[in-house]
Amino acid sequence: MPADLTGRLRRFWSPRPASDSTEERVGALPWDLATALPLPFVCQDEAGRGTLRELVTARVTQCALSRICAMCGQSLDAPPLVLLGTRREEGRNAFSVPPMHAGCADHAHAAYTGLDDPVLGHESGEEWVLVRTGGFDLERPHDREAGSRPLFVPNAILPAP
Ligand SMILES: [Zn+2]
Repeated sequence: MPADLTGRLRRFWSPRPASDSTEERVGALPWDLATALPLPFVCQDEAGRGTLRELVTARVTQCALSRICAMCGQSLDAPPLVLLGTRREEGRNAFSVPPMHAGCADHAHAAYTGLDDPVLGHESGEEWVLVRTGGFDLERPHDREAGSRPLFVPNAILPAP
């Protein structure tokens, strides 16, 4: 197995402390073949494949339980955590995409939310927002009509920088 592939696989198995550079973290992601954009951690299967259109439930759960960034897949060590969601999700204060590093969220917002296609499990045409929080609670699927995935509920919303 080539060394670089081994390194990539290792990244999927265990969270590492986040490196300083958003560009470095995002640059290490595999590509979404349809859009030629970086494929977020939360959209990847165990082999690093997937589509920007859909979240992978196992990854949503992994992000939730291990505090891993939905974009780069590295440890979410310190606030602010940033939730990328739709205006409707903001209205009910429950988000389907797990939290991200601030830099990763900025990158995702810029790269994905202007596309004509559905992204991150949402239909096209949604208005997207970034919500900064000090922490989050998990709302289990049975708590609300929400499909089979947990929802992320920010519990300490922070002002924009
Ligand atoms: Zn990140």
